[in-house]
Amino acid sequence: MYRTHTCGELRAADTGKTVTLAGWVQKVRNLGAMTFIDLRDRYGITQLVVEEDSAADVRTAAEQLGREFVVQASGAVRERSSKNAKIPTGDIEIKIMELRILNHAGTPPFTIEEQSDGGDELRMRYRYLDLRRPPLQRNIALRHRLAQSVREFLDGEGFLEIETPFLIKSTPEGARDFVVPSRMNPGEFYALPQSPQQQKQLLMVAGYDRYFQIVRCFRDEDLRADRQPEFTQIDCEMAFVEREDVLRTFESMAKHIFRSVRGIDMGEVAFPRITWHEAMARYGCDKPDVRFGMEIDELTDLVRGADFPVFDAADYVGAIVAEGCAGYTRKQIDELTEFVRRPQIGASGLVWVRVGEDGAPKSSVDKFYSPEHLAAWCERCGATTGDLMLIIAGERRRSLNALCELRLEMGERLGLRDRNVFAPLWVVDFPLLEWDEQSGRFFAMHHPFTSPRAEDVELFFTDPARVCANAYDFVINGVELGGGSIRIHDSALQARMFEVLGFTPQEAQAQFGFMLDAFRYGAPPHGGIAYGLDRWCAVLGGVDSIRDFIAFPKNNSGRDTMLDAPSAVAQGQLDELGLSVIEN
Ligand code: ASP
Repeated sequence: MYRTHTCGELRAADTGKTVTLAGWVQKVRNLGAMTFIDLRDRYGITQLVVEEDSAADVRTAAEQLGREFVVQASGAVRERSSKNAKIPTGDIEIKIMELRILNHAGTPPFTIEEQSDGGDELRMRYRYLDLRRPPLQRNIALRHRLAQSVREFLDGEGFLEIETPFLIKSTPEGARDFVVPSRMNPGEFYALPQSPQQQKQLLMVAGYDRYFQIVRCFRDEDLRADRQPEFTQIDCEMAFVEREDVLRTFESMAKHIFRSVRGIDMGEVAFPRITWHEAMARYGCDKPDVRFGMEIDELTDLVRGADFPVFDAADYVGAIVAEGCAGYTRKQIDELTEFVRRPQIGASGLVWVRVGEDGAPKSSVDKFYSPEHLAAWCERCGATTGDLMLIIAGERRRSLNALCELRLEMGERLGLRDRNVFAPLWVVDFPLLEWDEQSGRFFAMHHPFTSPRAEDVELFFTDPARVCANAYDFVINGVELGGGSIRIHDSALQARMFEVLGFTPQEAQAQFGFMLDAFRYGAPPHGGIAYGLDRWCAVLGGVDSIRDFIAFPKNNSGRDTMLDAPSAVAQGQLDELGLSVIEN
């Protein structure tokens, strides 16, 4: 037996027991008469002691130890003379009677402790060492608990976990596919699924009316902190449901997750809902962080006609109010101006109004606007004594986006985004379609299987641009954790969708024939949702990056630096696949 206990298990009550532990050497402190060894495994750290009266072979073995050596130690549990309140095993230590080195270890390239001294690149290259660190072990355990919690809940609700294939067909809609060449079908390719959307809908046609899967999905997109080329979805679908049924089921799932993973009771009240149009107008984006107010107010109608060219030329002018920030210095305002001017935010500038102690507003555009003007703006936005109003003008969507980012930044600066507060909500009634100027055609905002709202079906045949989708997103703290929709289950409506998206009937048949066919054989009304499991982890763990919750993630350029992937393949492999690489 390699061990009787883990390194996180022993307490004062175990004093006197003879135990055997196995683990990694975190640290050795040789004090001459005594040597202390911190032994670590994923359960914790236990202090081992070698003393002058220890057996000679134990003392010799102890002298050879280095960081990350793998050892097995047996001895008696005793109370420590100086206790360490910081760790759960801090009251005891093991006086070693036998010490066996199970494996040697080279000096690790960074410290394997709570805080590491290794940079990102280095830790990614030696991910298996980074994964030994307690914060990552906590993250991986949280991920496990989340997955278990999801399975427990959905199983209890009668959902079946069903696997769908990874080698499927490339489709032109959505993000870019990762493609896989087929040796047996030269010149042809599979695609890795961006999501099991079509398969889960086919399972509904097949009568498996409650399906879920914790499944890897692949999207060849540009990466960000919350994006990986492969990521995990909690993918769900239900038949014979309306939107209300789906929202209710998954609201219960969210509450179950919070209770079982974080011990947080979200109460009985339903999560708030907001329409997409309202979210855009009030928060400037479709995934609002509603932990705090500071909502956006439109000023366009109040600012026109005062000969201030910037406002006159803008098709939208909007503002947020930072409470109690009237005293912001020139430097602080300049910082905010820089912030909104960043290329990824793209505002042209920032106009401010301060409401001084005397209640009188002063602004950066005093030349153009009278105190009465400013007072009207303040009234619209609810700015009072001590407040700072920040105004952005320009093209509507871009300005709203800039106000959204500025609001989040101010929320951060004012400490309004507490990571231990969770503010969930549903965003509903998304537009069904998005017009793309460049290609001069509509794209499905969610995906082409999303149904119009029942009341908009007629409009879909006459003025599709104005149609709202029966789609919903689940958002917590400004993070889109999931999204889904009630689907089209009628082949005529589905054919109309492909027509609106610019497919000829032949193209639609070639790409999605199997779906259109399936809908002719008795498709039940159905709908579903998919959550990002990695994002759920990050939100529950209170961090921004999903990478910390993935055992072996890719870096920002989509590389696995440990495996050195992607990489070239041998010529023979290419020949077999009938592929040739064009050198750039
Ligand atoms: N398949 C969709 C997605 O990955 C989610 C859904 O509609 O269920 O975004």
